[in-house]
Amino acid sequence: MNILLIGIQGCGKGTQAKILEEKFGWKHITTGNLLRESIENQTELGLAAKKFMDEGELVPDKYVFQIVEDALTNAKDGTILDGFPRNMEQLKYLEKNFTIDKVVLLELSDEKALERVSSRRNCVDCKKDYNLLYNKPKVEGICDVCGGKIVQRDDDHEEAIKKRIEKFYEDTAEVISYFSEQGKLIRVNADAPINKIQDNIVKALEVSDLKK
Ligand code: ADP
Ligand code: ZN
Repeated sequence: MNILLIGIQGCGKGTQAKILEEKFGWKHITTGNLLRESIENQTELGLAAKKFMDEGELVPDKYVFQIVEDALTNAKDGTILDGFPRNMEQLKYLEKNFTIDKVVLLELSDEKALERVSSRRNCVDCKKDYNLLYNKPKVEGICDVCGGKIVQRDDDHEEAIKKRIEKFYEDTAEVISYFSEQGKLIRVNADAPINKIQDNIVKALEVSDLKK
């Protein structure tokens, strides 16, 4: 089964995808992380993508296609997509040779989304996620796990977050309607504790009896 996690910024797609990956051995493909890796590696694509990302704009499709191409051609049954497709063009591209079986929409209000994203932080070294409201590091600014420095993403400033939320309603809403019409959409309340959301996703996917 291939699933797509979709939802507004800060809805917890990445967190839930990681748990599903560990539980079921599915492979998590996330365009946001792939793009950030390209930036870290200072590839041409990364440098081109960074200015769009920092301003909260979508990265042009030609770059995104380049970056997902490898990941998608190697994808086996059991893939979790996160952050892709975000618009109808990306959806068409994906559907040429990939089938999504179920789509989980993690629902969260705009206010909560803005609050969560503006307080999220990451370790520069091991990338562990923190949130100043819900799960602060023990020592301010220092990673509990590796002692690395804790920073805010360049695109998690208010202006860029607001723009991304706007884009979500402009472009991604159409993708959601498309899957809803196909009867593949599952709605899960994302304003709940992490393990509660996870339980609801697993229940809705009807995979609780899977060993792997
Ligand atoms: P968020 O969900 O908070 O927007 P992501 O890590 O998913 O965070 O994405 C960060 C940025 O990466 C986006 O604002 C956008 O610029 C770029 N990006 C990620 N996925 C895509 C995509 N499928 N198409 C275009 N741009 C993307
Ligand atoms: Zn760390």
